Amino acid sequence: MENNNTFVSTDTTAKTEQLLRKACIHSVESFGSVDGPGIRFIIFLSGCKMRCRYCHNPDTWTMKCDDLRTADELLQQALRFRAYWGKEGGITVSGGEALLQIDFMLELFEKAKALDINTCLDTAAQPFTREEPFFSKFTKLMSFTDLVLLDLKHIDSEEHKRLTGWANENVLDCARYLSQLQTPVWIRHVLVPTITDNDTYLYGLRDFVKTLHNVKRIEVLPYHGMGAFKWQKLGLNYTLDHIDSPTRTRVENAENILRSALNDV
Ligand code: SF4
Repeated sequence: MENNNTFVSTDTTAKTEQLLRKACIHSVESFGSVDGPGIRFIIFLSGCKMRCRYCHNPDTWTMKCDDLRTADELLQQALRFRAYWGKEGGITVSGGEALLQIDFMLELFEKAKALDINTCLDTAAQPFTREEPFFSKFTKLMSFTDLVLLDLKHIDSEEHKRLTGWANENVLDCARYLSQLQTPVWIRHVLVPTITDNDTYLYGLRDFVKTLHNVKRIEVLPYHGMGAFKWQKLGLNYTLDHIDSPTRTRVENAENILRSALNDV
């Protein structure tokens, strides 16, 4: 009887561990060309706690686990496209917010590096904290990460909260920590008229980026409302209907300001 109980308990633990090692996948893209260098296999994980008012993918917010996959399964699928990656390409994990499934990320990127695959994490850093156990896991994850695409939504914390539902102190702290680790970073910033397209905020962001020593590129992403239909489909209230995309002049203005942060790097 005792033996039987022990058996049941061990079996359950093994099953739980196996389940924990599976990721809740939203979707995959075989030939991504905008999320990191070269051609990349992109894995979009489910779940995000931010509520960015311009989010293109509100269908990723809920941690839906209809499609559960192991790191090995995903790597096997990704490797079918290796011939197209060239010197620069590889895999990118995006979301949703990939760091919500950090245990899976650790296994995936550790195994990817063992296969000499270039690894890129696309994150808005909302889950970042120096508290344990997250902090040690994040530090270890960065040792297997070639590039972080860090979405800085707004330099002003109050405005960040209005835009995403969350303050930005931990996001900026994540950026500083990545600089300390010397993990290469591309910063991405969505330019939204009346919200982020404001020279005071752009110079503020530029000054912050200047304090970092690991930023290789800054991408300005012009706002567009093409994701609005997804909000409507989900019965959500899209609040940026009245906002147009920024003009080419304003995009260039933002690029000039932000990229001046890299002049001294
Ligand atoms: S962090 Fe990304 S997925 Fe999450 S709400 Fe913002 S834009 Fe959407």
